[in-house]
Amino acid sequence: MKEFVDESRNGSINYADFCSAVTEKTSALNETYNFFQFVANFRQRAAAEAPLYGLPISVKDCICVKGMQSSAGSKILQGYMPPFDATAVARIKESGARVLGKTNQDEFGFGTFSTNSAYGVPKNPYDPQRSCGGSSGGAAGITAALKMPHIALAESTGGSISCPAAFCGVVGLTPTYGLVSRYGLIDYANSLDKIGVMARCVYDAALLLSHIGGHDPMDSTSLNIKKQDYTKSAAKKDLKGLRIGVPKEYFDGVDPKITKQVESAIEKLESLGAKSVKISLPMTKYALAAYYIIASAEASTNLSKYCGMRYGLHLDIEGNFSDYFSKVRSAGFGLEAKRRIILGTFARMSGYRDAYYLKAMKVRTMIINDFKKAFKKCDVLAAPTMPILPPKFSDIARLTPLENYQMDALTVPSNVAGIPQLSINCGFISSLPVGLHLMADHLQESRLIETAAAFETAARDGKK
Ligand code: GLN
Repeated sequence: MKEFVDESRNGSINYADFCSAVTEKTSALNETYNFFQFVANFRQRAAAEAPLYGLPISVKDCICVKGMQSSAGSKILQGYMPPFDATAVARIKESGARVLGKTNQDEFGFGTFSTNSAYGVPKNPYDPQRSCGGSSGGAAGITAALKMPHIALAESTGGSISCPAAFCGVVGLTPTYGLVSRYGLIDYANSLDKIGVMARCVYDAALLLSHIGGHDPMDSTSLNIKKQDYTKSAAKKDLKGLRIGVPKEYFDGVDPKITKQVESAIEKLESLGAKSVKISLPMTKYALAAYYIIASAEASTNLSKYCGMRYGLHLDIEGNFSDYFSKVRSAGFGLEAKRRIILGTFARMSGYRDAYYLKAMKVRTMIINDFKKAFKKCDVLAAPTMPILPPKFSDIARLTPLENYQMDALTVPSNVAGIPQLSINCGFISSLPVGLHLMADHLQESRLIETAAAFETAARDGKK
């Protein structure tokens, strides 16, 4: 990426031609693969000293971009044009990057396969009959398919960066909760939502994180830490002294072919000097239930503001407010959003609140403690990202909602704990990508980047 920035700045790349080529290829890919809700015509040059001079960045639909429809993959926000940029977007623009468009996703992030997207379901670049994963499916798909300078801005609540990164064979980096401002992110579940990045290599992911991280007074949950440069960590080549924890619970119910692939990735980490230790995270089995209660409870309150008055979809007003409210919400929300509203409202109703929501919050603390204990014995945890290969749409259609939620078993615990995580490709099975999931303690992004970078270099050299 550094070469691209230098060359486009000094004129060895004709920037206007580059813009046309990127927009044309993106639009052409979009016809087949539905990666985007909207492809922008980006042509404005940046200031010559801008560090990300002219770099195209795709932005997940739930992240606000001034003047571009930002609808979080939902019909209820159709036509909503934010009058402001999310902080992450403002920061990349200030750094000289340009917005390539808004990528398709599951409505408000509710999903694992991007099949709950109101503006087209993104298709996997390795096999268009299969899913890109979700909810940041479009972001992962374009990152894999474009093969031109580009980085994606995405979001995860319970695994929406890691899952699609694994299914599309790219790097997905979800930072510690609070490291990147949520200002301008259309909320799914406020205590879980994180803006992160997807890229074709570890360096690019580290580069974008360096530009979007750091304190923001506009987000009260933003951590009080300064912007940091993570790109140096991406130069790491050996892992001497690193302790890799292998959590045994993360191999239950995993496709045996994936287990084998991940085990050989862990051997590769060992060959780079790391030492692996067996770890147990006994609270893992409670994470899914706790997550779906907390996430739905928060989502159901967040979605109450969409009533066809202030944002997005408006219909002809007939009857009283309740009639109108029901009409707009029936037309605007998809099935999964309605399911989450019902689930979440139930979980926080008086009489049920203690049994569900408060209990889930207690389980959340126990999950955090589980990780804290593990990080006394190891520096980085390594596991499969997803238990299955990218599934076919015809198979997804047969899943019950519960079976669908169970697909998040390996990505949800780290999201519930708010720790950083990175998915990186560790090979292919029947031409479909497999993800290795690395997790580290809060604010240990550099460790994750170092581990992934050393692995990436070794895997690349091994192929030569
Ligand atoms: N699949 C999970 C869900 O549906 C996670 C989605 C996300 O991280 N946005 O809630």
